[in-house]
Amino acid sequence: MTVTPALREAPSWWRRHHGGDGDLVVAYFCLEFGVDERLPTYSGGLGMLAGDHLKAASDLGVPLVGVGLFYRLGYFRQALDESGQAERYVETDPAQAGLVLEETGGGPLTVTVELAGEVVTARVWRSDAAGVPLYLLDADGITDVLYGGDREHRLRQELLLGVGGPRALAALGVRPTVFHVNEGHAAFLGLERLRALVEEQERMPGDALAEVRASTVFTTHTPVPAGNERFDVELVRGYASSLAERAGIGWEGLLELGSAPGDELFGLTPLALRTSGYANAVSQLHGEVARDMWRELGRSIGHVTNGVHRRSWQSPELAELLARSGVDFTAAPGEQGWECARALDLLELWRVRTERKRALLAAVSAPGLSVGALTIGFARRFATYKRAGLLLSDRERLGRLLGDPERPVQLLVAGKAHPADDGGKALIKLLLDYAGHERGRVVFLPDYDVRLARLLVQGVDLWLNTPRRPQEACGTSGMKAALNGALNLSTLDGWWAEGYTPETGWAFGERDLEDDAAQDAADALELYRVLEEEVVPAFYERDGEGVPVRWLEMAAASIEHVGTRFGADRMVTEYADRYYVAAHRR
Ligand SMILES: *Cc1c(COP(=O)(O)O)cnc(C)c1O
Repeated sequence: MTVTPALREAPSWWRRHHGGDGDLVVAYFCLEFGVDERLPTYSGGLGMLAGDHLKAASDLGVPLVGVGLFYRLGYFRQALDESGQAERYVETDPAQAGLVLEETGGGPLTVTVELAGEVVTARVWRSDAAGVPLYLLDADGITDVLYGGDREHRLRQELLLGVGGPRALAALGVRPTVFHVNEGHAAFLGLERLRALVEEQERMPGDALAEVRASTVFTTHTPVPAGNERFDVELVRGYASSLAERAGIGWEGLLELGSAPGDELFGLTPLALRTSGYANAVSQLHGEVARDMWRELGRSIGHVTNGVHRRSWQSPELAELLARSGVDFTAAPGEQGWECARALDLLELWRVRTERKRALLAAVSAPGLSVGALTIGFARRFATYKRAGLLLSDRERLGRLLGDPERPVQLLVAGKAHPADDGGKALIKLLLDYAGHERGRVVFLPDYDVRLARLLVQGVDLWLNTPRRPQEACGTSGMKAALNGALNLSTLDGWWAEGYTPETGWAFGERDLEDDAAQDAADALELYRVLEEEVVPAFYERDGEGVPVRWLEMAAASIEHVGTRFGADRMVTEYADRYYVAAHRR
């Protein structure tokens, strides 16, 4: 994606608020980053969030660099046929993706990492797409694909990131004072930093651990087991025990750091929690869930609700309209900036929204879709807790809703399932078959990626989300849609539990039931009811000119609400004010 250079107000937010901490540098580690549409080093929300974090840091002037891996084959590209999802991998040409190879003297700059006795050499690429440097390590046989291969392969990637990452920064002359471990994948960073302090600076192991903790921020991103990386203990021992010896804690010490009560596996979330002094979840509700989940580790966990980078997601047409209405995009988070969005000219808003919907439908190019119909977007990873099948639980009822000639409704679906997730793939097949039956009303769009995401969030009227509470840690696509004047309909999970207001959208399925099947059935009934009785009537309530005034008032309120509260700029200032500065000073 092209990011227009930040409006660099001099001095930046950072200089104005934290000018005294001038030598602070944050190194932000993550296994995936979505910063540039030519660079497929992300699979979904985590990567896009990391990319938006970097871009907002750049806008605000926060001294921050990103560290990740360059997957030659990226994440898979999805094609759809009668049998469901087909996967293929496309090699990325680094130059085409805007990457620059870091060099020293005459040749490429390299770092080495020992992986179970084998010395692995990695090169370092840099992307400037986010405005701050993003360094990506690349080692043959290790950084081939994102989230592919077996457990050992994943472990090797995570060791390369955690151990090779700080070595790459040292070789580049970058001296971070704060380390941000974004999701447990990067937790071996703590071990490598222990090793460096003990081996190179002759600290006592206990002091070294205190020092690592004092300068580390850890963010946990999901309560779902698959997202909390765990490994067979013997596998980890083979790879990490010599590092643990050199770090002065020995294998037993490392094992203790990665253990959780009642779990026989080695966990990266426990390791990250025990090697960081600041830990947070990514929404208010997720904060409660994470504290409960990790209570026995005795670490304190706060929350910083995720946000989205406005310029990356909002259509330029709407941004221009907002600017003309007096919205001040240069205002710092917490200052007044967005309140004028409420006073948007609703006819102009309707015009922009219709144009963006037309552009979306043109890109979709499926017969039968109509720009006048209420258009629902449902696009996400096909992880089972997201319940992509919920809407299909009563096909007759859904068919009536979609087929109403007076008040037509159409549904655009997109999303990938992890190649090893048979449950997710079965759901894709289910929705594909359904789209085959409801031609002209339901379309499954292949290969959900940042380009398609942008088209969808800018073009649909309603953004639907159906996670089983409380498993959606935050979710950010609904924020992107709201920033474009789409209304949200979601369970009260993730960000919507704190973001929902009756004037910006709808919530359904409030009760938490013990039994999943009962929960799904109750939620589905409520979902149909809200669609039939509230959403569809609101969209088709028109004035004499055919304009849905009440709907557009909600859209304007939604833009204001999300612009004020759920921007990546607000998120990064919270990290800076609450964690980065404190970690730097200690
Ligand atoms: C924003 C985004 C996501 C995350 O969306 P959720 O709300 O967490 O489902 C995933 N994939 C892409 C391509 C995105 O742009």
